[in-house]
Amino acid sequence: MTDVKYVFVTGGVTSSLGKGIISASLAKLLQSRGYSVTIQKLDPYINVDPGTLNPYEHGECYVTLDGAETDLDLGHYERFLNVPTSQANNVTTGRIYQTVINKERKGDYLGKTVQVIPHITDEIKRIIKLLGSLNKFDIVITEIGGTVGDIESLPYIESVRQLKWELGSGNCLVIHLTLVPYLSASGELKTKPTQHSVKALLEAGIQPDVLVLRTEKSLTEDIKRKVALFCNVEENAVIESVDVSTIYEVPMRMLEEKLDQTVLRKLNLPVKDEPYLTPWIEFLNKLKNPKYEIIIGLVGKYVELPDAYKSIVESLRHSGSVNECEIDIKYIQSEDITEDNINDHLGDLHGILIAPGFGSRGIEGKILTSKYARENNIPCFCICLGMQCAVIDFARNVINLAGAHSTEVDHKTKFPVIDLMEEQKRVINKGGTMRLGGYKCVIRKDSMSFNLYGKTEIIERHRHRYEFNNKYLCNFEENGMIPVGINPDSKLVEIVEIPSLKWFIGVQFHPEYNSTVINPHPLFAGFVRACIK
Ligand code: GLN
Repeated sequence: MTDVKYVFVTGGVTSSLGKGIISASLAKLLQSRGYSVTIQKLDPYINVDPGTLNPYEHGECYVTLDGAETDLDLGHYERFLNVPTSQANNVTTGRIYQTVINKERKGDYLGKTVQVIPHITDEIKRIIKLLGSLNKFDIVITEIGGTVGDIESLPYIESVRQLKWELGSGNCLVIHLTLVPYLSASGELKTKPTQHSVKALLEAGIQPDVLVLRTEKSLTEDIKRKVALFCNVEENAVIESVDVSTIYEVPMRMLEEKLDQTVLRKLNLPVKDEPYLTPWIEFLNKLKNPKYEIIIGLVGKYVELPDAYKSIVESLRHSGSVNECEIDIKYIQSEDITEDNINDHLGDLHGILIAPGFGSRGIEGKILTSKYARENNIPCFCICLGMQCAVIDFARNVINLAGAHSTEVDHKTKFPVIDLMEEQKRVINKGGTMRLGGYKCVIRKDSMSFNLYGKTEIIERHRHRYEFNNKYLCNFEENGMIPVGINPDSKLVEIVEIPSLKWFIGVQFHPEYNSTVINPHPLFAGFVRACIK
């Protein structure tokens, strides 16, 4: 056994308490003290990955450099740690069962009855230890999705119980995140749900080592002591996590609460360096003390659930901070936009972001938005489907290709300016079959994109099936929409610009997956700068 240390994060009382943010904050603090840390999320649903989920179900699907479609918490991990994640950082029950069933078909368990225990739990343990076995990390944090007590998380909880026994105390620990609700009628904070939730963990054989309590109001020492006593946890291992205005504040609060020191002590690791958090603090200071204020319209069809655009929103926050600018994001439902009301929706904006998406719902609103931004010279950033809409608008309204469209929506269009990629034409299965992950793009030197990136060769992440149809390349170039970024191998168009405008860039890739607190994405930063001007 290597000397990698393992931290498990479970959740109780209710979902959506922010296990991902607590995990990422702890990882950030450990990293700032000189430890190499990675975070993994285990999701108890049966989809093999979240790629086939509607964003309304589970928020954004985050894509890693190696092309895995993953849970949006991985986005937080990357944004906090500035370290890339991979397929191994997000595994679902579906993937675990798929692996076990494939092994069964191959005859790996010949003669045996294949069961949840030990076969599924063994596979879960293998997945957890896989990241540790890479010899790249001192500490692996594993976040168990769902809430303790759910039927579907039982095999994960059992695997954690076994690992705790196998690894021994000092090599692993369990952090349990719960909620302490405030009852305004009686003016009291209530610890009973936490006690019940710890009881549920104990029934499964796990004594948590650290409790993190989410709360609206600060907890008194009395309450902390009560929780410690009734949940059998050391007093200084009861950590409060009070609501804050930005998720980027959470690491600072966890530092004050000494979550990192408690974890290190329990893992028998030295609290070696003072935490180096200077860039993080600078980022926070700028975020909280803006000099400018702008309104950016985010035009998409999943706007009722802002989690559907998590990485875009966070990228805007990062770029707002570097530009010392507060960004008020106005979520605009693209389905609502018509020629008659477009000015009411977009008239007050300093910049427009046309979001990614799939299918026909709301697409005409996005095409009209692109036209409006172009005609009114409003800075406009078009991502993936957003870029495809900008191309369709330009084809219809500038090149005069009436009825131009994407074959995703109109497969009989006379002018298929966006068309299915050649390699996609034979694809039947929907799961994991898009053009996914990092691909190279070469940028022309006489472009705005080159000025922003400061280099000609970039790698960005993708998630799409349709592409700019190169049959029309010359028409676009002659009329002023310039394909400035091209994939050197496949010749697919990756970036288009309209140089006659103040700022108009469309990208087929997803820059939002590449923006972190420490490294805001250059295109987002440039976009926000243009909006301020
Ligand atoms: N639906 C488009 C395609 O598959 C765009 C995808 C996206 O915006 N991620 O190409």
